[in-house]
Amino acid sequence: MRPIALLFLVVAACAPTAPPANTPAPTDVEHPRLEWGMVLHGGAGVTRASYSAAELPLMEAAFHAALRAGHAILAGGGSSLDAVEAAVRILEDDSLFNAGKGSVFTNDSINELDAAIMEGHTYRAGAVAGVHRVKNPITLARAVMERSKHVMMIGDGAERFAVEQRIEMVDPGYFHTGRRMRSLRKAIEDERRAANPNGTAVLPDPTWRFGTVGAVALDKQGRLAAATSTGGMTNKRYGRVGDVPIIGAGTYASPACAVSATGDGEYFIRWSIAHSICTRTDLAGQSLASAADSVIMGVLHRTGGTGGVISLDNRGHVAMPFNAEGMTRGYVGPDGQTWMRMFR
Ligand code: ASP
Repeated sequence: MRPIALLFLVVAACAPTAPPANTPAPTDVEHPRLEWGMVLHGGAGVTRASYSAAELPLMEAAFHAALRAGHAILAGGGSSLDAVEAAVRILEDDSLFNAGKGSVFTNDSINELDAAIMEGHTYRAGAVAGVHRVKNPITLARAVMERSKHVMMIGDGAERFAVEQRIEMVDPGYFHTGRRMRSLRKAIEDERRAANPNGTAVLPDPTWRFGTVGAVALDKQGRLAAATSTGGMTNKRYGRVGDVPIIGAGTYASPACAVSATGDGEYFIRWSIAHSICTRTDLAGQSLASAADSVIMGVLHRTGGTGGVISLDNRGHVAMPFNAEGMTRGYVGPDGQTWMRMFR
């Protein structure tokens, strides 16, 4: 095939599809362009009932602290990779987010954590899945990227590597929190009632997974990075791995585009959501806002998936579309002002 014909096919395949009639309006369309900066999310699925009046200010304070930590690194000339890791670690250490300390429980009442990190200008990536003794899975994902020959490590093998690399380990009980155990009990009860043909129908609780965290950053040298960390979905079955550690599904960075996702992982895997957004900008020349909107409000929404992404391109454009009731999201640019929203 002649190169020009091949280029035409690639562009046609990546062209925006018309949004379906019931597509919700794009969110947060207008954002200032960041000369450099970081965009952060604390998960889709958040509702007005997700946090108590006492928890909400604590959650917001942690979120702003994570933005400020990323800003301090970038302002000092540090790398986008350092910034996204530092921000994600702060949220992993906070029990109000579904990552690290606050991870949700599996059906077996244990915690299995997933994380991934990617550097755009080198296409280097590292990911871990199903770990339950690593305090900060994002740091282990970075170690896989930088200190192994591999991209992804899982379970016991990943933890063996963590010990060899002197990554901080904790007792699995470190991840046990009362609020996540209550969510598990409720999810199991909802599942039992839904399966009973004579029982009262229950709607799935939208808060069953909220709190996954992710960051994308652009540094002063124009380098992009993406990082995502999660406990996954409440009541997930043994061994289930979501989209977060799958490069191109929940986490992706190229020289021109970085994406971190949150939502129904199975949909993000099937549609390679993060990679699909970057391909539309990298190959088809679509703007970031249009690429992110057409993927989230198009294929994800049309096929019944819920969630959203944060994304950033190498010119500092920000796009954060989601089709859930809420998605905790925010950003910081050179002026150091932190912006955060949870709902539309
Ligand atoms: N995407 C995550 C997963 O499927 C969950 C989330 O983002 O809330 O594991």
